[in-house]
Amino acid sequence: MSRRWDALGALVGRLTGVITNWAGNVTYSARGLHRPATLDELRELVARAERVRPLGTGHSFNRLADTPGELISPAALPALMEIDSAGARVRVSGGVRYGELSRYLWTQGYALRNLASLPHISVAGAVSTGTHGSGVGNRSLSAEVTAVELVTADGSLVELSEKDDRFPGAVVALGALGVVSSLTLRVSPAYEVSQTVFEKLPGSQARAHFAEIMGSAYSVSLFTSWTGVDVDQVWVKSVGAPPTELFDAVRADGPRHPLPGGPAEWCTPQLGVPGPWHERLPHFRLEFTPSHGDELQSEFFVPADRAVEALDALAAIREQIAPVLLISEVRAIAADDLWLSPCSGRDSVAFHFTWKPDAAAVQPVVAQIEDRLAPYAARPHWGKVYGTRPERLAELYPRLGDFAALTRDLDPRGKFRNDHLDAVLG
Ligand SMILES: Cc1cc2nc3c(=O)[nH]c(=O)nc-3n(C[C@H](O)[C@H](O)[C@H](O)COP(=O)(O)OP(=O)(O)OC[C@H]3O[C@@H](n4cnc5c(N)ncnc54)[C@H](O)[C@@H]3O)c2cc1C
Repeated sequence: MSRRWDALGALVGRLTGVITNWAGNVTYSARGLHRPATLDELRELVARAERVRPLGTGHSFNRLADTPGELISPAALPALMEIDSAGARVRVSGGVRYGELSRYLWTQGYALRNLASLPHISVAGAVSTGTHGSGVGNRSLSAEVTAVELVTADGSLVELSEKDDRFPGAVVALGALGVVSSLTLRVSPAYEVSQTVFEKLPGSQARAHFAEIMGSAYSVSLFTSWTGVDVDQVWVKSVGAPPTELFDAVRADGPRHPLPGGPAEWCTPQLGVPGPWHERLPHFRLEFTPSHGDELQSEFFVPADRAVEALDALAAIREQIAPVLLISEVRAIAADDLWLSPCSGRDSVAFHFTWKPDAAAVQPVVAQIEDRLAPYAARPHWGKVYGTRPERLAELYPRLGDFAALTRDLDPRGKFRNDHLDAVLG
């Protein structure tokens, strides 16, 4: 079983003073982890602290959430999940995980537009890094937020909604503006999804019909180990009738895990059987370890219309990628207008890498990937392993300067800053 950052991890952290992220590759340098039980307690903690960072469920793979001061998790705040009278929005407290929210919404007859590969992550932490699922018509999870309530550096409670000019800077905010105490998300009537896995999609077909394949269903993911030219698996999530064929790929004859030989029971139901949206849109089930468990991850977003070129660029270094890789996933995400969203202003295709847990071996390969993808203006996932330099980030995110100004406005003394953010913001 993997190292997990969950209730047990938090308890071990309290007893030993060692707090790590879910993957175990980051030991936070914080003096302590606080889990306030009320909003007033949260406000007082933030106001009193010299240096502070919000922590979600710790599923990020870099030092973004780190601080030499205090870590604050909103997980013990009263778990608010409140659907508005029009049935168009749900308000949730910052510590709620997507898995819990989804189950609640389903019981009430509602749904979210999309989910990430795992339901284990907190809503506030996920939207803070631009977390996404797949689907050419689906934007990132962050783009479904309509308001955020923040506890800012002096302990004030600030609500920013879509009407506010600062709102597009305040959702994918990397924890730099304050602790998100609650958020409001768009909801729709509940719907059913079926999931069908295809195997051995010929590489020539994937290349020739890339946009058609990615747009062939509500959500499509390609999985490749980069060991050959074919795509190992295609996960097709359909609203309505599932596909019976896919460009010479073979329909899987049983449930699969995206990692070769991985336990299929950790994954959501497949074989085209329809069921609740939240039991099909993530790949992994809340009760089990998502993905592999002992791993690192990186992900890079390119404009959708350059995706095949980017695919070719990565294929050219497959011999460097494959030895340190567990599996790679390719997804499509629709454009949004959030300042720091990796999909800001452009329909995107994201190339994801689940690495073996060997940072020293992975780092040089990540550098090669960044080098190869540079002509396609590849933006890194904020919560994963990357080496993109600050001056390059400023080119990739035209609104980064506005975001830095917003952080100075809401956090003039830099209480929420850390070394990682300093490198991002310059
Ligand atoms: C197995 C696995 C699968 C993954 N699959 C996907 C995927 O399908 N798609 C994808 O895009 N990403 C994926 N990720 C990455 C993950 O979604 C992001 O790293 C996400 O930010 C993790 O959420 P978290 O709650 O663990 O946040 P954390 O890692 O705890 O924190 C991330 C950032 O959010 C900030 N933050 C956390 N809580 C708050 C708060 N209450 N207020 C303000 N800021 C806050 C932190 O300060 C930090 O900057 C995956 C990660 C893992 C481990």
